Amino acid sequence: MSRSTRRCPNQLCGRPFQVNRFSADLDALADRGRVTCPHCGLVAIGDGNSIFLTHALSDEEEHLFHALERREEARY
Ligand SMILES: [Zn+2]
Repeated sequence: MSRSTRRCPNQLCGRPFQVNRFSADLDALADRGRVTCPHCGLVAIGDGNSIFLTHALSDEEEHLFHALERREEARY
């Protein structure tokens, strides 16, 4: 399982959420390759050989995400 944080590609949402990626054969019932935003329900297409479970960040984690992102932007 690998874990990452993504930003929702929906411009009206744009919120970060956590993505846990699993090998598809662990759970044949789940939709393969679909990354669903827990905030707005937008579905992005990921690797079709994986299953993606997503959940919202805590307020603290989301705050940290934005703080780190602002720091990245400040470099340019
Ligand atoms: Zn969203």
